[in-house]
Amino acid sequence: SQELDLVYFVKAVKNMIVMAEENRDYLSQLDSDVGDGDHGINLSIGFRDVEKKLENFDIETENISSLFKSVGMSLLGKVGGASGPLYGSFFLAFGSTLNNKKVITTDEFITAFGAAVDKVQFRGKAELNDKTMIDVLIPAKEYLFAHKESDFKDTLVEVVKLMKERSIEIKPLVAKKGRAMRLGDRAIGHFDPGAESSWRILECFLLALN
Ligand code: ADP
Ligand code: MG
Ligand code: MG
Repeated sequence: SQELDLVYFVKAVKNMIVMAEENRDYLSQLDSDVGDGDHGINLSIGFRDVEKKLENFDIETENISSLFKSVGMSLLGKVGGASGPLYGSFFLAFGSTLNNKKVITTDEFITAFGAAVDKVQFRGKAELNDKTMIDVLIPAKEYLFAHKESDFKDTLVEVVKLMKERSIEIKPLVAKKGRAMRLGDRAIGHFDPGAESSWRILECFLLALN
């Protein structure tokens, strides 16, 4: 397995800040088809707070756990709605499994990612095919665990591809969790906004690799 350092993770988080701005209108548009039209706005509010806190982040004294604790607290504290607490818990769980390290192995990344996905499922209680972010996060977790021995970059390329495919595959489903649930059959044919933001977050980890 390869190593990932704090500089890498700061780069990944900075990619998320840019991603949230660039996709703000797109993700809110998707959410206006099936929910209350704020998913992009929610992420943008959260990651603007992440950006603000990153200004005072001292790479010498901080570590990967404290970085993701800060990200998680921003999303948990600043973002209303379902996705704030879910993504907030995702990053808090991701960071807390890493025991204040400044460098981790890709194996440790995979373990932390697994714990983060489990936390989202624990909090949101969504199962596969409920048409939520869980439908792309679970296959990502499974793929990562099955490819621990492979080149990490190759694996992340495949994970992002798989998540994009899953996000399209769940379009014909009826939502069983979140606001889209209230639409019943009218959600059929639409994207789940959280699935579309989840693969973009994973892509931020991929693009931070050299
Ligand atoms: P809200 O629906 O409260 O306005 P957002 O629009 O920001 O919050 O986020 C909506 C997304 O949150 C959905 O597209 C879905 O992927 C995700 N979501 C909602 N409820 C759950 C849940 N119980 N478990 C997992 N994901 C969920
Ligand atoms: Mg919404
Ligand atoms: Mg909302």
